[in-house]
Amino acid sequence: MRARRWFVVSLVAVVSVGSAQAALSELPPYRPDGNAERGSIPAVYRFDLGALYESDEAWATALADAKQGLTELAAYHGRLHDPEALATYLDRYFSLELAIHRLTLYANLEQVTDTTDQRAMARHQTALNLTDAIMNEGTVMREAILALTPAEVEKAYEQAPGLKRFEPAIAELRRRADRVLDPEAERVLALAGDNLWAAIDLNELPSDNERAFQSLISEMPLPSIADGQGNQVQLTFGNYPLYRAAADRRVRREAVAGVFGSLKKFESTFAAALAGQARRDVFMARARHYDTALEAYLDKDDIDPQVYENLIATVRAHADALHRYVALRKRVMGLDDLHIYDLYVPMVEGVDKDLPFPGGAKLILEALAPLGPEYLETAGQLIDPNNGAIDVYPSAHKESGAFSSSVYGVHPYIKLNYMDRYDDVSTLAHELGHAVHSELADSHQPYLTSRYVPFLAEVASTCNEMLLSQYMTAHADSKAERAWLLSELAETIRTTIYRQTMFAEFDLAVHKLAEAGEPITAERLDGIYGDLVRSYYGPGFTVDADDSVEWAYIPHFYYKYYVYSYATGLASGIAIAQRVADDVPGAREGYLGMLEGGSSKPPLELLKGAGVDLTKPDAIAAALDLFDRTVTELGELLQEKEQR
Ligand SMILES: [Zn+2]
Repeated sequence: MRARRWFVVSLVAVVSVGSAQAALSELPPYRPDGNAERGSIPAVYRFDLGALYESDEAWATALADAKQGLTELAAYHGRLHDPEALATYLDRYFSLELAIHRLTLYANLEQVTDTTDQRAMARHQTALNLTDAIMNEGTVMREAILALTPAEVEKAYEQAPGLKRFEPAIAELRRRADRVLDPEAERVLALAGDNLWAAIDLNELPSDNERAFQSLISEMPLPSIADGQGNQVQLTFGNYPLYRAAADRRVRREAVAGVFGSLKKFESTFAAALAGQARRDVFMARARHYDTALEAYLDKDDIDPQVYENLIATVRAHADALHRYVALRKRVMGLDDLHIYDLYVPMVEGVDKDLPFPGGAKLILEALAPLGPEYLETAGQLIDPNNGAIDVYPSAHKESGAFSSSVYGVHPYIKLNYMDRYDDVSTLAHELGHAVHSELADSHQPYLTSRYVPFLAEVASTCNEMLLSQYMTAHADSKAERAWLLSELAETIRTTIYRQTMFAEFDLAVHKLAEAGEPITAERLDGIYGDLVRSYYGPGFTVDADDSVEWAYIPHFYYKYYVYSYATGLASGIAIAQRVADDVPGAREGYLGMLEGGSSKPPLELLKGAGVDLTKPDAIAAALDLFDRTVTELGELLQEKEQR
């Protein structure tokens, strides 16, 4: 189904890509400056929020309507067993949910581009309160639908044909109907803070254990260290990644020793916080008669636990490639032993390329060409700042980082902090992947099945990153540039597939301890983590005494089985990029089908349509074979350099 188009469809898509290229050539020149006044950036490079609301006044009017809508919805409570009333209620509920998402997006986009704007801040808070209100209404809606027996649902569809429209939402809620307990048990679980039915990403709902962890991280004293110039600097979790990657080995060793030594002093408290989280997850799972927390939390997105086991087994089977990477690092860095603090310093010197936005955007469109004209047409529209969907440059009060955010019925918005470097081009390709995914899902699905689950999100973004990486590597100006691009690719795969899978194994081990009713102590956790580091990095890697406490500062272990999806996302993105680049018959169409599918089918089925079956080793093996080849080529390229 094609619900809407937000831009004019050209008859020949190639012409449209050509016109995007032409529009990019005519953009005004601008040099990014992090301290710039927002007003000094040419308007074309800033968001045009007019597609959402014409003015702040129009937003305020829509807000008043939404508040009125909430009051009117409440009048239906208690009448939802009547199919006609339920149909009308669902109609109003979903329009209101969409209206509130739109109000929130506008307020959010205004706020992130100027974090000092008090009126935008107030609008943002108001919108968040409305989001809370519609989530509470969602609980009422869910309970009404789950209260029906299967026979009653069938009868309701007959009595109120209008209800059929909502079948996808009803079916998705009822997929786990057999996990619903009697009303009294449900009441108690709600009091205990049940999150298995949460309507938003689970990692956005911090538990008290996660809050305790965050507080400990912010209050824990860290030492000061001497930087590369010998000046004493206070170590923080903010500057830790910087010092951990320092070219001066003493600095990076002191940074890691400083953080790990401090974690060590508080490790029992960290262990207690994490144990509480794991026991809580197990409690929620068992309350709903799941055998394991893994099953319960993957079932939320309809993911087979087999995917988790397959990921771990396949990555384990390719550990030798990571061992070779460790050996290569040693050789290139000229070290006899390689420690955790030697992993983050760039192995190859960066090639400084000046890539102003118009050129960077053109590069991306060229790199994405294998995805075909339909993909390029949408990408070309979104990346062209003339269409108002992209906020390119940093300014004094703009929030850092990048994202893509969207609401059904309006084109997606991409926030960047573009600084003319290769990294920024890569970030743009990534966010563009999310944006095109949203746009294609929205234009091919009705509202109810337009939103893709988090599990699929990083497939679309990393597929673009990989196509860009391939294109840049193929067009590198020098062997030095090629070596640098390959080293970046290797690091991405090491940190996203190997490291996150190692975290996934740790996550599983902690939950298994909780499920077996065994004590979860710091000593035990250190033991598990240390063994994992040793087997992942291999015999050529030196593990120091405090290294096994690294688990203590990783926030992802509080995200209820989320971390594995970074690894499956990148592995799938690589596999798809490879299939598309190799022109495998049906690869491009299959991938577009996945993007256009939104949430119309279970995520694993959509992914299968794109040629990736995550219950089997193939896709993950393909990604790790790419890692293996990258390490080999990098070794050869750097050898030539060493011999010269
Ligand atoms: Zn992303």
